[in-house]
Amino acid sequence: MSARVRRLPDFVANQIAAGEVVERPASIVKELVENSLDAAARKVRVDVEQAGVRRIKVADDGAGIHPDDLRLAVARHATSKIASAEDLARVGSYGFRGEALASAASVARLTITARHAEAPAGWRLEVAGGEEVGCRPAAHPVGATVEVADLFYNTPARRKFLKTERTELMHIQEAVRRIALAHPAVGFELAAGSRSLDGLAPGDTFETRLATLLGADFAAESLAVDETGGAMRLWGAVGLPTHSDGRALRQHFFVNGRPVRDRVAAHAVRQAYRDVMFHGRHPVFALFLELPPALVDVNVHPAKDEVRFRRSRDVHDFVFGKLARALRDVRPQGRAFAAAAPGQEAVSAPETSRPLALALAPKAAGFDHRSRLGDAAPPPPVNLARLFRESSAEPAEEVREDTPPAMPPLGFAIAQLHGIYVLAQNAEGLVIVDMHAAHERITYERLKGQLLAGEVPRQRLLVPVALDVGAAAADLLESAGEALRGMGLVLERTGMAAATVREVPALLAGADIAQLARDLLADLAEFGSSDLTRERQERLLAGVACHASVRANRQLTVPEMNALLRDMEATPNAGQCNHGRPTFVVQPIAALDRLFLRGQ
Ligand code: ADP
Ligand code: MG
Repeated sequence: MSARVRRLPDFVANQIAAGEVVERPASIVKELVENSLDAAARKVRVDVEQAGVRRIKVADDGAGIHPDDLRLAVARHATSKIASAEDLARVGSYGFRGEALASAASVARLTITARHAEAPAGWRLEVAGGEEVGCRPAAHPVGATVEVADLFYNTPARRKFLKTERTELMHIQEAVRRIALAHPAVGFELAAGSRSLDGLAPGDTFETRLATLLGADFAAESLAVDETGGAMRLWGAVGLPTHSDGRALRQHFFVNGRPVRDRVAAHAVRQAYRDVMFHGRHPVFALFLELPPALVDVNVHPAKDEVRFRRSRDVHDFVFGKLARALRDVRPQGRAFAAAAPGQEAVSAPETSRPLALALAPKAAGFDHRSRLGDAAPPPPVNLARLFRESSAEPAEEVREDTPPAMPPLGFAIAQLHGIYVLAQNAEGLVIVDMHAAHERITYERLKGQLLAGEVPRQRLLVPVALDVGAAAADLLESAGEALRGMGLVLERTGMAAATVREVPALLAGADIAQLARDLLADLAEFGSSDLTRERQERLLAGVACHASVRANRQLTVPEMNALLRDMEATPNAGQCNHGRPTFVVQPIAALDRLFLRGQ
């Protein structure tokens, strides 16, 4: 190599930086809207043409830009938001790198029209290809309008990476909705050509914004979360395990008001749902983590959508711990139960067959966003439970007079239907329980409790069960034997491919042992390693519990059915089986009345 070292021209350096800042039109929308919010705008209007490729225009009523600063604002590393290296440790604005406008100017035609509150008039600056095209006075109310036209006109290769107009528009809408959730007090409008996509009024409630972002059903099928621990606060809403997605798309995590993709948080949330969600399903959530800026590094990536926690273990454990507990508290709730647990608000199902009796807000959380990035005036406190009740057909307060006060939440059993469902009567109406799902959950929670307390009590089989398990599974047994013993199973290798079951968990004495052992070994083999962490042990136990639980078509006596109902009330996570399916639904009397057109 004979070439000598040269400094790249600014324009080229900006284009290189733009590669990371501007991935697609939505990245520009995000940067411009963040600038508006940093300028304390109360209204932000976003107009796009051709999904932002032809034009993106963001207009706000924020502080505006002083005419003397206009040229500097589009220069790289020029910012009004931090002044020193120390400031980096306490960033309270979205922007701090001074790169967004410079990047946009290097891959598109950029026009800024702005008027500063202290300047007598507005001013407009146009830049194309890194060169100033014009700078002159222009009429503009206090605030700023930034236009980015012909995106990637000078880098045609990058244009090829853009997806269809529909997809790009979806990304833009998602970016606006996500940031709007963190700022309910600010009004947002989004229009594509002459079509208005979103009109989010200033002073919206958090729930309205939440419904826009996550769908109208979400509020009724979610839990409000608001927890503090040490210097951290976690608040927002998480979907019930029964409200899940096939892909991890509706998951929003904010750190000090900044939307981020974060692996630590994602893992913590996944862990919290591990027990209650069917494998391969993904929870839906919008969570805000607040912590002192010194504990989080926001300067990780030019797009500013990643952070690094100083103590990531603490963050992980905090998020996991609080969510796991909130999810555990989801269990059959009735008025009797609520009365026994003051401070908890019970919500009953407004509609017929969804397991909405589970949608309770354990803490009636207030969503006031106190981070510096958020709105100065916090939105009014939110109570998802109340929101949900207001929208429901029947007020939750309505209790039928003839109800005995001591009625347990799931009521008393009346009958069994087709050997599958237990029917019971409670204060609200009819309770339908999937008895296998319910029993499976109860057995699993018990086994888990025993495991946690040391080891699962075992019972010796009078007649050991010999199995042909295959050589691979038999190999696994050699190393996993000890861990399996802790789970209550004594399984010994007795030949090349043979094993014998000698002891089983006492709770499962009546189960089909051979089938249970085979499935357990298959699960074990699937994990691909015999290293049994507590987490894996629990997963295995979930499978075990499924086997040992009452099968369909077993006749239960009324006392047995009542015992099942009482067990459910006492069991954490009793609203879902281990696969996240509901274990029971409630049909309120009013819903039954409607079926028969009574009182109409
Ligand atoms: P950063 O946001 O990291 O400071 P940008 O390139 O996004 O960098 O913006 C550069 C500067 O331009 C900002 O620091 C701010 O002073 C000014 N600016 C940009 N957009 C606006 C706006 N909408 N209102 C007021 N000032 C703005
Ligand atoms: Mg910026």
